[in-house]
Amino acid sequence: AQRPYIVGNWKMNGSRAMLAEARAIDRAAARHPQVDIALAPPFPLIGLLREAVTGIGVGGQDCHTEAKGAHTGDVSAAMLADIGADFVILGHSERRRDHGESNALVRAKADAALAAGLGVIICVGETLEERDAGHAEDVVASQVDHSLPQGEAALEAVAGGKLAVAYEPVWAIGTGRVADVEDVIAMHAAVRARLHAAYDEAGARPRILYGGSVNAGNAAALLAAPEVGGALVGGASLTADAFLPIVAAAG
Ligand code: 13P
Repeated sequence: AQRPYIVGNWKMNGSRAMLAEARAIDRAAARHPQVDIALAPPFPLIGLLREAVTGIGVGGQDCHTEAKGAHTGDVSAAMLADIGADFVILGHSERRRDHGESNALVRAKADAALAAGLGVIICVGETLEERDAGHAEDVVASQVDHSLPQGEAALEAVAGGKLAVAYEPVWAIGTGRVADVEDVIAMHAAVRARLHAAYDEAGARPRILYGGSVNAGNAAALLAAPEVGGALVGGASLTADAFLPIVAAAG
């Protein structure tokens, strides 16, 4: 079985004071050697968090497609790698919504991130409207097909374990309304099929994380489901008290 991957996405939350929570999570990580644990704080905290922890991964929440240049306000994958980040979250629904990110842009960012040596977590997920209309699987399959990194270098990176996909139904994010385990199982199977279509045998490699209102109470049931290789956690990743029970549920 795959090693479970529990990732905290701090979104636009955090401060120097909150590094204490990251330190507490890092200390506890030693008690869960069978779980891959990571945090993705806002850009200004990445370097500080990198220096504050030793046993967990550190990542960004976005990157630019170019390595450098005249793009005021943007941050490149190469810069994230340079400051010690291990991975980057791309295509989160909040970025697709707030910044109009398309599948093609997410794919270009993913190609750039892999080229910089970063791991990548590609986020996909349907809206409530799309689910109610019966289109959830089509929407997610299309997002996967068009957002995944492409080409020979990408295929190698995927085979090397550098890619994960996070299924995050938009209506489950920050709402307290978690998806039914049966629906998660069906969607993760659909995502796996698309990964095989894109990468052949290497498509078995990426972990498929679930995200959306994951907490201490529902984590165990979700993480026990077939093809659920971990969790992408928002609100419950902001304190060690909320996050560590999720880590414990993973193993
Ligand atoms: P919540 O866990 O706050 O619902 O957020 C999920 C998410 O969007 C993680 O990327």
